[in-house]
Amino acid sequence: MSNWRNELQRFLLMLGTSVVVGMIFGEVSFALLVASIGYSSYNLLQLRRLTKWVAKDSHKSDTQPPEGTGIWGSIFDSIYRLQKQERLASDYLKNILDKAQESSAALEMAVVMINKQGTLDWWNRATEELLGIRYPNDRNQAVTNLIRDPRFADYFHKEKYSQTLRIEAPGVSGRTLEFQITLFGEHEKLMLVRDVTQLHRLESMRRDFVGNVSHELGTPITVIKGYLETIADNLDSFDARWHKPIEQMRSQSQRMENIVRDLLVLSSIETRAAPRAQEKVDLGELAREIEAHTQEIMQEKQHRFLVDYPDKVVLLGQRSELYSALSNLVINAAKYTPAEGTIEFRAALNSKGVTIAVEDNGLGIESHHIPRLTERFYRVDPSRSAESGGTGLGLAIVKHILARHDSELDIESTPGKGSIFSCHFPKERVLS
Ligand code: ADP
Repeated sequence: MSNWRNELQRFLLMLGTSVVVGMIFGEVSFALLVASIGYSSYNLLQLRRLTKWVAKDSHKSDTQPPEGTGIWGSIFDSIYRLQKQERLASDYLKNILDKAQESSAALEMAVVMINKQGTLDWWNRATEELLGIRYPNDRNQAVTNLIRDPRFADYFHKEKYSQTLRIEAPGVSGRTLEFQITLFGEHEKLMLVRDVTQLHRLESMRRDFVGNVSHELGTPITVIKGYLETIADNLDSFDARWHKPIEQMRSQSQRMENIVRDLLVLSSIETRAAPRAQEKVDLGELAREIEAHTQEIMQEKQHRFLVDYPDKVVLLGQRSELYSALSNLVINAAKYTPAEGTIEFRAALNSKGVTIAVEDNGLGIESHHIPRLTERFYRVDPSRSAESGGTGLGLAIVKHILARHDSELDIESTPGKGSIFSCHFPKERVLS
């Protein structure tokens, strides 16, 4: 501001001087004209120097601004300072960008940036090796054209990116890739892809091993249990001191049979891919079947079993699997609710699909157990679970079945008050 005031003062002084000189020589207008031309020429000259400097030299860090006096000097200095700051900021950003590119190039994982139109913007070196994507040909190509597996297109468009996707590498057999997408910016996507072939092989070896062992154990256990049941039916012919051990052997052999049965169910769900053909499962019929088959345990503990479901709702999925998952939840509710409790099986339709819940007013579960309940063999109270014939595999089976039906298990519970186990099926799986 003070520069501007000085400049104004200088201008007025020059006008004053030229008026005085003009008056001395009797040519005021001529003196004013000469002064104006001089002043304008000086400013034009400074403007020219500024334009030349900005156009040519100012981007070079070592180029000093042109010398100038008054307001021009301060304009040159300000522009010089601003340019210096901008240069420092852009050097800093370039440095960061170089480092980000170098580090992502060194990653074994593919990193791909996809814009909101779904086409490729940028990718690192590992992407070329893992996905066969080439620069510059594939730039701006739609990612679903480059990875043509329909499961990838499904994953990409559904945008349920909390889960990962595992599929075979495009064009390479026997190589398994895991895809994970994260949204950022204005609906842009960052896609990470890693080679999980080794992990996949180990997992399938583990699954086969569990499946084979369970299968092999099935026959001996059935034989032992059969004999023990015959012995238990004829307990009177044994000495009284054998009665308790025989009863224990019988109940433990029953437990072993349950474990082997559940392990076989789990391994068959894990090894078989979810069938593409979906059955039409009438929810009402399924609920009635569950009600009929759990009647015995409900009566034994004198529970009240309430059922509430909408008319004519059909779920698309595997009938036997859905029956197994939902009946497991009802049986658990009956098992972990003291006598004369209330168990409710209800289903509710809404715009997003159908929600099914099994609620009890039983023992409840402390919150720190809840995230682990669907792990295999995880039990809140192992002795109580064993007493009730539990295997610790029921909820693991439920979780797998629900995942195959685009659903998840949600658990709410209050110790001493009861629990709600619920799941939601998306509207694509519901006909009503
Ligand atoms: P289990 O065969 O032992 O019942 P699950 O996998 O079905 O195994 O359940 C895991 C554990 O979760 C059970 O041991 C039990 O402690 C707890 N649980 C499951 N359902 C309920 C319920 N409705 N109320 C209270 N606890 C439950």
